[in-house]
Amino acid sequence: MPDEMARPLIRGRGGGGGGSRHLEASVSEPGAPVIGILGTGDFSRSLARRLVASGYQVVVGSRAPKRSGALFPEEAEVTSQMEAANQADLVFVAVFPEHHSTLVELKPALAGKTLVDVSNGLQIKLDGPSHAEQLADLFPESFVVKGFNTISAWTLQMGPRDGSRQVFLCSDSHKAKSSVMQLCRRMGFVPVDMGLLSSSLEIENLPLYLFPSWRIPILCTLLLFIFFYLYNFTRDILQPYIKSGKSVFYKMPIETVNVTLPSVALVMLALVYLPGLFAAFLQLWWGTKYNRFPNWLDRWLTGRKQFGLCSFLCAVLHAIYSLCLPLRKSAHFKLLNAAFKQVRGRSRRVR
Ligand code: NAP
Repeated sequence: MPDEMARPLIRGRGGGGGGSRHLEASVSEPGAPVIGILGTGDFSRSLARRLVASGYQVVVGSRAPKRSGALFPEEAEVTSQMEAANQADLVFVAVFPEHHSTLVELKPALAGKTLVDVSNGLQIKLDGPSHAEQLADLFPESFVVKGFNTISAWTLQMGPRDGSRQVFLCSDSHKAKSSVMQLCRRMGFVPVDMGLLSSSLEIENLPLYLFPSWRIPILCTLLLFIFFYLYNFTRDILQPYIKSGKSVFYKMPIETVNVTLPSVALVMLALVYLPGLFAAFLQLWWGTKYNRFPNWLDRWLTGRKQFGLCSFLCAVLHAIYSLCLPLRKSAHFKLLNAAFKQVRGRSRRVR
């Protein structure tokens, strides 16, 4: 829809009495669905702002509408949960999953409507049912869509320019999912269809993974660094000290680290190419390229970029350390020179 794309996300604030609640004022478009939000927490407030700015009519359902009303943009109506459920065509459930069961009295009002479950878990769950599936069991007459849980309240408030633009969605109802996808696009996000509601567990786990593909390469880098550092420390520092009482412990922070880094970089680089050799060998052994590689090799092959980048980081650090070394040596030389000149000057004066 080209006219929709041309419409600015944030409307002008107008000359009138726009207070802080007018941050992103917009006029709701006729014919646009009424969007309901249950809950008045951080997520609900940011979502309401973004929806209002995108031209939607928003109705928020709260257990205490009088208390929460002032926190929302003026264009959004804050009312009771039942009133919001009755008015809305599509409802975001922005309450924690533990409190989903307190919403069952809204069942008749929500029947036949789309419910968007935005909840996140507190820890990674490997087995279902997911929160979205539990919500679908609670509201069998509604169409549950899982999504928006990977978008933070901050991103919603700042707009998609300042965070991830992808919104992962799944649902057993194609129609409900399509309507949420359309809403997503209008808010400036990029919907990603993840299929049926059975994928909701995966979507709920997504925000809980911390740099998932980086864990093993970083662990490898650290372990290799510790191994090579201990080896160099024993060979260059501990052994001369024990054998001849020569104390070179000052080498520990720079020189020993500098000797260690290239070893780590080279081994990490070897780890980038090694799985390719294993894969080629296996394919020759099997006589076909259509067999699946074992899981460990598959994970290793897909992590080669991260291994390579860790190797590159070590090489860059080695270059920086190598540049620092002559500086340290020249400073050392200048200091000795100055001391020597001072001593020589004094001895001349004495003579
Ligand atoms: P919050 O600030 O604690 O708000 C939760 C809201 O739930 C309350 O304001 C309350 O509103 C409502 N509620 C309804 N029934 C309730 C009950 N029985 N007990 C307590 N509260 C009840 O939480 P939030 O940060 O907005 O998160 C809401 C949901 O969004 C969660 O499922 C969370 O996982 C998800 N989420 C949040 C973020 C984020 O950045 N915050 C991001 C992604 C997903 P009333 O008192 O007005 O009824």
